[in-house]
Amino acid sequence: MRSREKSKALFEEAKQYFPGGVNSPVRAFKSVSGPPLFIKEGNGCKITDEDGNEYLDFCCSWGPLILGHNNAKIREFVVETISKGTSFGTPTKLGNELGKLMIENNRFVEMIRFVSSGTEAVMSAIRLARGYTGRNKIIKFEGCYHGHVDSLLVKAGSGLATFGESTSAGIPKSFVEETIVLPLADSDLLNKTMDKIGDQVAAIIIEPIPANNGLLLQDKSFLECLRLKCHKHGALLIFDEVISGFRTGFEGASAYYNIKPDIITYGKIIGGGMPVGAYCASKEIMSKVAPLGPVYQAGTLSANPVAMAAGYATLKQLLEKDFYPKLEAKTQGFIKKIQDHADAKKYEMHIQSIGSIFWIAFTRDRIKAASEIDPKSMDKFKVLHHELLQRGVYLGPSGYEVGFVSAAHTEKDLDEGASLINECMDIVFG
Ligand SMILES: *Cc1c(COP(=O)(O)O)cnc(C)c1O
Repeated sequence: MRSREKSKALFEEAKQYFPGGVNSPVRAFKSVSGPPLFIKEGNGCKITDEDGNEYLDFCCSWGPLILGHNNAKIREFVVETISKGTSFGTPTKLGNELGKLMIENNRFVEMIRFVSSGTEAVMSAIRLARGYTGRNKIIKFEGCYHGHVDSLLVKAGSGLATFGESTSAGIPKSFVEETIVLPLADSDLLNKTMDKIGDQVAAIIIEPIPANNGLLLQDKSFLECLRLKCHKHGALLIFDEVISGFRTGFEGASAYYNIKPDIITYGKIIGGGMPVGAYCASKEIMSKVAPLGPVYQAGTLSANPVAMAAGYATLKQLLEKDFYPKLEAKTQGFIKKIQDHADAKKYEMHIQSIGSIFWIAFTRDRIKAASEIDPKSMDKFKVLHHELLQRGVYLGPSGYEVGFVSAAHTEKDLDEGASLINECMDIVFG
């Protein structure tokens, strides 16, 4: 048995300092067993906890670490940059360099504003859409997460396209009333809703690759329907690419589906493990942002040089030839080993995946909407998670979270990982 004594003691201590012992809720391991791991070190695809246990990591800090932990080029550039100071509150050349790199290599981005988190990017994008259109209403989809933005912590109420309910205390009802929540993968309901209230809608926001509530891959036709309806009614289409950006390719889901949104938000990978977010749009839309335009948005540490350095060193490596095809081929090989084993044994599971993202669904049916996930299947995940920890494999601590493969995972690591997952599946279904 791997001991978690030190993690356990640190967690007990942390509970005195932080609500629930954590600074972000899902870290508390509430939906799996035991205390959360306190990680002291990461290298490549491995992390080491305070008890000295090593784990093959498929969480990768929830997505940002597409190059794995402690990537040498990122570390060296960050150290070089930090040795000259950490923050100036002025523009920097490094900010220009990251901006230029993004714009030159992404046909969907004309102008950028850097911020410090995905939430901040989305919050600002919503304000921009409202400022640009002069409208208030936002349409979002059940099963998409957009950070802890007040007007987006809303789930569907009962009845068709009625006003939603907030999913957090502390959100005024008047905010919630501006948000309409629809199910994913339902073009009919979307069309009906837009025909009724489209001219009050500032924006439709979606994760084009919904990856925060399982991996709810949409048909391209649904995303095209959003594009069409936004054009028709003068609403803006926001692709929240905080996870999908730089993950399925340098140009993210927009290029994968070849659909041009009006505003794109980024986070996670863009900062290479440092706090960076961004919202991007055409020059025309971005000209509404202060100081050019009337939509106010600012940040003391925005485009901080150390964070810019980490982002730059990351994105540079993603532009290397065949980076994405190699990563995807590795991921597909890994998934196939697990799926083949499950198929041979007729287990009720399959893996949904795109690029280097994967999600284990405990059903054989393709899942496209949040309501299709059976909450009872999470009991199986809990067993899987526990057994994997005992064998040195770390998945995000919830069955609704997706897994990530990084460039630092070798074929050998992935073979070992797949074997251990198969061994644990035999226990889950045993
Ligand atoms: C993670 C995430 C966010 C929030 O980003 P933070 O950096 O955690 O604030 C927003 N949208 C999507 C799609 C995300 O995956």
